[in-house]
Amino acid sequence: MSDCNDALHELYEFIDGELTAERRALIEGHLHRCSPCLEAYDFHAELRIVVSQKCREEVPEALRRRIASALDAEPGGTAPA
Ligand SMILES: [Zn+2]
Repeated sequence: MSDCNDALHELYEFIDGELTAERRALIEGHLHRCSPCLEAYDFHAELRIVVSQKCREEVPEALRRRIASALDAEPGGTAPA
């Protein structure tokens, strides 16, 4: 009955490989039997990859833009007289 709750509750630890072999086997078994949980697992596993890639590639760029637009917006910054 609480299989899905258990599986979802430990999904992040499962993805991060922080569970014991015994817990992993239980959750893996559940994911094989339960497609909603497998979809949730796929979603979170993918999300994690996307997030870690975005953090590496886009944060410095976003930060640069924020700094650039902050400088642009500064009063008198664009039109020195
Ligand atoms: Zn389930």
